[in-house]
Amino acid sequence: MPGFEFFGEKEKKEVQDVLDSSVLMRYGFDGMRNGHWKAKELEAEISSRMGSKYTQLLSSGTAALTVALASAGIGAGDEVIMPTFTFVASFESILAIGAVPILVDVDDTLTLDPKAVEKAIGKNTKVIMSVHMCGSMANLDALKELCDRHGLLLLEDACQAIGGSYKGKALGNYGDLGCFSFDYVKTITCGEGGAVITNNEKYHKNADHYSDHGHNHVGNDRGAETHPFLGYNYRISELNAAVGLAQIRRLDEFLDIQERNYTILRNALEAVGGVTFRRVPEGGVENYSFLSFFLPTKEKAVRTQNALSTAGVDGCFYWFDNNWHYYRNWDHLTNNISLGKLPAEVLNQMPDYSQSNFSKSDQWISRNISCLIKLGWSESEVHERAEKMVETLKTILD
Ligand SMILES: *Cc1c(COP(=O)(O)O)cnc(C)c1O
Repeated sequence: MPGFEFFGEKEKKEVQDVLDSSVLMRYGFDGMRNGHWKAKELEAEISSRMGSKYTQLLSSGTAALTVALASAGIGAGDEVIMPTFTFVASFESILAIGAVPILVDVDDTLTLDPKAVEKAIGKNTKVIMSVHMCGSMANLDALKELCDRHGLLLLEDACQAIGGSYKGKALGNYGDLGCFSFDYVKTITCGEGGAVITNNEKYHKNADHYSDHGHNHVGNDRGAETHPFLGYNYRISELNAAVGLAQIRRLDEFLDIQERNYTILRNALEAVGGVTFRRVPEGGVENYSFLSFFLPTKEKAVRTQNALSTAGVDGCFYWFDNNWHYYRNWDHLTNNISLGKLPAEVLNQMPDYSQSNFSKSDQWISRNISCLIKLGWSESEVHERAEKMVETLKTILD
């Protein structure tokens, strides 16, 4: 998945343009910039590649989720449905605006189970946050139908799935709002960065203002601009945007390499009896950033994970025990451990997660292993890796 593997001359050239002009900020300083507007250009290229009307670049993927929620008017006491299997950024962004994270089971897509989502919808629910973990999506039609029926927003966290699609639409551009991360380990990187895409003019305008202290960006005197509402600073720097500009132009090249490497590994593993694969909903195309598969039992999955590591097959994750990506180890969330006092709405409405039953998620995640697909592998290296994986799996499954 990581774009950092291919950091090279193209990235350096874009950064050098910014260094030569010495304007490291994305707004203002029109006369000094030598015509360089890297953040604006990157926004235009993301909109064009994703087919969305608008893109707002931000300082991180977490900032993108926070700004997306804030831009849609989500705030204190509003409830946001999110999956048990995701990155901690999901609940961080929800809590940042005083909203309440409602955890919901995942299914064999490794993403939100629409039936479990329906059961979790209550009078305060405002958003379904669908997280396209490890390169693939939930049944988005089913989630959209729930949103339409209950008057909710569909927010796509496509941080790990840029370049994937669903029914012909780029992931991120199917729901009301979509988010990307360009941190250092994502498919394409800015070093640090993120983006919100939308086709809703109001949400975009809100995102543009909110992420820059409420600046309305009218005229060319920043000091004289007005502030129609309270904002914050989630700006990306021009240096980071420059790296991303070089990288987005290589996205399709990166996706082709990922698909090639993924397909070699997948074809090899298909031949091993007892291995099954994460379900991709009908109409969905992965971005091939991970190959995710299931073992018949939890015990076999644990043994496989250990054996792969012993065999030198790196980059495979057993999420069930992971500190950052699965609810079981989110004790800071479960126990409301924050530096300062949490908002009253959060304290009053947050379910007691120590009493929750997510055994349906456990049944899938405890049997799952996800292997990162790297860009830098040569074709023969991937074939060697495939052989090693097959040998290892056979020792456990025969
Ligand atoms: C990486 C990631 C984020 C957060 O992105 P940052 O840029 O690191 O803040 C959010 N959600 C998912 C699913 C991610 O993988």
